[in-house]
Amino acid sequence: MQSSTESGLYRRPPYEIVNPQGRSPVLLVCEHASRYIPEELAQLGLDDTAAAEHIAWDIGALDLARELSARLDATLLVANYSRLLIDLNRPLSAPDAIPEHSEIYPIPGNRNLGATDRQERVACLFEPFHRQLAALLDERLGAGRPTRLVGVHSFTPSYRGEARPWVAGVLYAKAEAYAGRMVAGLRESGEEIGANQPYVIDPLEDMTVPVHGDERGVDAVLIEIRNDGLRTPQGVEAWATRLAPWL
Ligand SMILES: [Zn+2]
Repeated sequence: MQSSTESGLYRRPPYEIVNPQGRSPVLLVCEHASRYIPEELAQLGLDDTAAAEHIAWDIGALDLARELSARLDATLLVANYSRLLIDLNRPLSAPDAIPEHSEIYPIPGNRNLGATDRQERVACLFEPFHRQLAALLDERLGAGRPTRLVGVHSFTPSYRGEARPWVAGVLYAKAEAYAGRMVAGLRESGEEIGANQPYVIDPLEDMTVPVHGDERGVDAVLIEIRNDGLRTPQGVEAWATRLAPWL
């Protein structure tokens, strides 16, 4: 078992800030950007297929977030580790903050995780990311800058064998007007766009929207794109073109 901060498992910085001087009111976040798991953790016991799958990261989300950052001139905060180590969009009190299962896969490396290992993930991955996101918001709000917070995610075409009809979804709680404009705009294409589908925001299970957005009076949404639409550079570009006017 890996343990203690002395093992220095998390040598890579926990996050990256893309375009820190971006002038857009939009602040982009990509919490599930990476599938990186330190080598010493042996993919948490997952085989190569499972470790490359959606459970480890949001396929295509980082490519889309980078493209949006460039087009909008928006700052983007990117997480550098897999959500399987600790999910940055879950409160620490959520039972699956460090998941022992994800969809059909058990995650052996997260079973019976000791307090020290857990605390190391909290201290090295979770806390620095949330401190940085809070600091970016403090700075903008302190300067009186209009700010909208947008998390960029992707989801699988099917879940537990059931096909999902939406090509994308917008998830929100308090930001009804902002999200409503976005949903209406995206629906102009005639494709199926979910409003609080395929997931809903739940303060017990979410961080970005309720904590960094709603609690601070900042309009906040998560954008969820079905990942078959983000598997090619052309797909990513097409989604960036569709989304950019509504963010
Ligand atoms: Zn996600």
